Amino acid sequence: DLVRVRRALLSVSDKAGLIDLAQALSNQGVELLSTGGTAQAIRDAGLKVRDVSEVTGFPEMMDGRVKTLHPIVHGGLLALRDNSDHTDAMDAHGIGAIDLLVVNLYPFEETVAKGADYQMAIENIDIGGPAMLRSAAKNHQFVNVVTDVEDYEALLSEMAANEGATRYAFRQRLALTAYGRTAAYDTAVSTWLATKSGTTARRQSFTGTLSQTLRYGENPHQGAAFYVDGTRDPSVATATQLQGKELSYNNINDTDAAFQMVAEFDPAVGPACAIIKHANPCGVARGETLREAYANAFRCDQTSAFGGIVALNQPLDGETADEIAQIFTEVVIAPGADQAAREVFAAKKNLRLLITDGLPDQNAGLTFKQVAGGILVQDKDVGRIEKGDLKTVTKRAPNEQEMEDLLFAWTVAKHVKSNAIVYAKNGATVGIGAGQMSRVDSTRIAARKALDMADVLKLDRSPTQGAAVASDAFFPFADGLITAAEAGATALIQPGGSMRDEEVIAAADELGLAMVFTGMRHFRH
Ligand code: 5GP
Repeated sequence: DLVRVRRALLSVSDKAGLIDLAQALSNQGVELLSTGGTAQAIRDAGLKVRDVSEVTGFPEMMDGRVKTLHPIVHGGLLALRDNSDHTDAMDAHGIGAIDLLVVNLYPFEETVAKGADYQMAIENIDIGGPAMLRSAAKNHQFVNVVTDVEDYEALLSEMAANEGATRYAFRQRLALTAYGRTAAYDTAVSTWLATKSGTTARRQSFTGTLSQTLRYGENPHQGAAFYVDGTRDPSVATATQLQGKELSYNNINDTDAAFQMVAEFDPAVGPACAIIKHANPCGVARGETLREAYANAFRCDQTSAFGGIVALNQPLDGETADEIAQIFTEVVIAPGADQAAREVFAAKKNLRLLITDGLPDQNAGLTFKQVAGGILVQDKDVGRIEKGDLKTVTKRAPNEQEMEDLLFAWTVAKHVKSNAIVYAKNGATVGIGAGQMSRVDSTRIAARKALDMADVLKLDRSPTQGAAVASDAFFPFADGLITAAEAGATALIQPGGSMRDEEVIAAADELGLAMVFTGMRHFRH
């Protein structure tokens, strides 16, 4: 199963390591063929190389769109060397065998990540490169295909160990890497087109690069890994970890939830903080300062906040870090951290501090969810409600403070698992009911937790007194609304659209509540 490498075609966009490789191959008497820029680089290094265009008799044309798409190239890659029909065809058409293909592709992913315009992205879709990779990989019985710069070394040692030849198992491994690369490449193109066109593909694949093998998954008996999709948008995937142990599976999931939540709050409007436990917020608040935002969020549910994940919408400062350091926190993520903050946390070895260069994009994107036998794909929930979108349905309209709290509670509810009920007052959540199978239960639980906090904080009344309440979907019956009113809520925001809206509105009027409809729902399961 040994294949001696005699003739190689090199065509690479990333020229790292190219010359060393070309030199080593040359030293072993391997004939080198190459495309324009690659050939130039090799020649500049004083090595002998033949241009593919000279071999095919066709110039590179159409801005490089057509360089290697020629039977002389693909025949040389695809021919079965032990099949007389194939070798006869090679002889008849002057096709020389190519035993080694070294190709890395036009940097489509990087180009898109840098925010290139549409035409620039299109021009960075490599056609001939993937075609050659696929030809060579298909014929791995006879051909070596290298697409990772990291594999140059491996190729040379394999050849060194086998007198200039390679073994089947080695070529097979290279082939699967090549197909993995072309699949990922086309997925990147398809995903990009999906976001540009605003439609989903009839076939959709997800591609990722292994970023971290995790110690375990949600539980210790589950193996797990983190694959990243290569997009550069600020996220848990692209954040820089300044200190603390490796992130766990649950950390990554919760940190993502926290950062997505806090990104709803424009840092230009003011500081905001979200504390997350088990992917649900247990406190979200704005504040005059970041420290105050954290303190307000913490007050919502001090019990649950222990061991939580904290996300901030502005760079972490020293006084906020001081406040956070008062209790055990698993992860803090923020768009930056100043020197004072870093010093405060340096003493907390177990605390993981992640920084990014901005907030996640809350205006676009897709989400994927795996179910047995398939993947559900949807647009990210980028729905936003402004004051002007609201319809007051009760006799009493919300006053200014209520209106502000309604919109705040509504924004938080979008990030709470359904059934979601959020009580908020003065720009801070005061009670959150998440993930219950009935809406009335979420309403009760949120109020009960607020009462517990009143005990802890030694307040003479529940923080839900005078609160605004958001419900992620309509109240199917009046009971949830009545529960909220009993807890002291004075205003409600919900999508509306229930068969019993009239009954629910009548109950609200009777209780003197102000209620607005959004016409938009925020299920999150
Ligand atoms: P060079 O720098 O050698 O001019 O170009 C190298 C790049 O061209 C590689 O990334 C390779 O994948 C790509 N390439 C090779 N042949 C073709 C082709 O026929 N069409 C296109 N679009 N790209 C090609």
